[in-house]
Amino acid sequence: MKSHFRPAVDALVGYIPGEQPRTNRLVKLNTNENPYPPSPHVAEALKAFNLEDLHRYPDPTADALRDDIAAHWGVGRGNVICGNGSMDLLTMIFRAFADPKRPVAMLDPCYSLYPVLAAMQEAPVIRMPLDPETFELKRPLAELAKGANLVVLTRPNAPTGTSAAREEVESFCAGFDGIVAIDEAYADFADDNCMEFAAKYDNVLVLRTFSKSYSLAGLRLGYAVGDAVLIDGLMKLKDSYNVDMLTQVVGRAAFADTETLAAHTTAVRKTRSRLTTELEKLGYTVIPSQSNFIFASPADGDGERVFAELRRHAVIVRHFPGEVTGRFVRITVGTDAETDRLLEVLREKRR
Ligand code: PMP
Repeated sequence: MKSHFRPAVDALVGYIPGEQPRTNRLVKLNTNENPYPPSPHVAEALKAFNLEDLHRYPDPTADALRDDIAAHWGVGRGNVICGNGSMDLLTMIFRAFADPKRPVAMLDPCYSLYPVLAAMQEAPVIRMPLDPETFELKRPLAELAKGANLVVLTRPNAPTGTSAAREEVESFCAGFDGIVAIDEAYADFADDNCMEFAAKYDNVLVLRTFSKSYSLAGLRLGYAVGDAVLIDGLMKLKDSYNVDMLTQVVGRAAFADTETLAAHTTAVRKTRSRLTTELEKLGYTVIPSQSNFIFASPADGDGERVFAELRRHAVIVRHFPGEVTGRFVRITVGTDAETDRLLEVLREKRR
């Protein structure tokens, strides 16, 4: 039978999320979730929620939540949009700014969702290669991104954990004739961030998520901050009720609890530092990480072997095949106990 799909859809290889095995016998370090539970305020908010309220539609623009976020960052409600995870925001952004005549630039390697979103829009992709040893930028962003209408800049980047220098990002944003979407999914684990540029430059959107630092990947909540003209445009493209009523309530409760956020991000950073040191002792090359995962390559450069060996011992990490990325495994920073188990398997394998 002839296909009725658009040719671009027939040709599309859909985004493949990391595995979510439904057993807790595994040490799961493959999808950059937070190993700690969400804020206790979440349980309180759910307990106080009147389930009868669910017969109504939620606030389509999540204004109470946007007000909290706006107040925190010192911007207005009109500078914030919420999404069903930051993936939802990325989808809106690609719909808005990418098409066959409007190329998208992205780092290489980058988060594997971006090329899929570009393909959906039939938009040409401009790759901005990182140095294959250090995963730093090799040339100025302005040179690498030439001709793009949209640049997705992941900071810290996934899967490398590296961040382009803040000054470089700022001078790029200031001079670039296009949209810069700075994906800060992991920024709460980093030494610095670029949120300030969302208010300072009218071509910049900064994206955040509740999936990582707030331990709420299962909830699906993210937001973007930027110029009101950009936010208004994205509002036209979103699903009408893209953030459900429970998520708006829970999101507000979690966002208010800055103490839990600080405690859990500090714990992850501490374990990240220990994991880095221990892997280096085992002969791994570890790319210095600003994120809640690390990108590490064994001495023989065979990332796939490490991935498979860990898996045989019920420890799941992520391996991205490819000439550059294939040498590495990406390991999410788990609890100390999970990290100990990972290191135990790797040490045994060395004997
Ligand atoms: N951006 C980056 C760089 C990511 O790694 C992820 C999650 N893997 C996302 C965005 C999407 O996260 P979410 O939709 O859960 O907010």
